[in-house]
Amino acid sequence: MDRNEEIRETKFCKECGEKIDRNAVFCTHCGCMVENIQVQQPQIVINNSNQNQNVNVPMASAAKARNKWVAFFLCLFLGYFGAHKFYEGKAGMGILYIFTFGLFAIGWIVDCIVLLCKKNPYYVD
Ligand SMILES: [Zn+2]
Repeated sequence: MDRNEEIRETKFCKECGEKIDRNAVFCTHCGCMVENIQVQQPQIVINNSNQNQNVNVPMASAAKARNKWVAFFLCLFLGYFGAHKFYEGKAGMGILYIFTFGLFAIGWIVDCIVLLCKKNPYYVD
């Protein structure tokens, strides 16, 4: 008889005033959104706290710590191969030592003495 049933199931678009389905989210006439879409967004906790701990390693950019005794014994036993030079990262000098037998043994002996006088650890750059 009356149309209450239908009215209950409908609502009016707040934009264009047309009758639309009660559960409609978008108006079928003008297309505008009449309901806030409840998107179940997971709460994304954006943890932007900077975890980059600047651990200040006491290290001069290029200088590398070397163990005095490792270098010394490398020099003592393999100095004519420039082993201690390779250990210090000085490959060029190491190769030179190989071909010159530790700078004709002079570099070898001098390096042994120099290494003995160094602090432990010592730093090469
Ligand atoms: Zn509308």
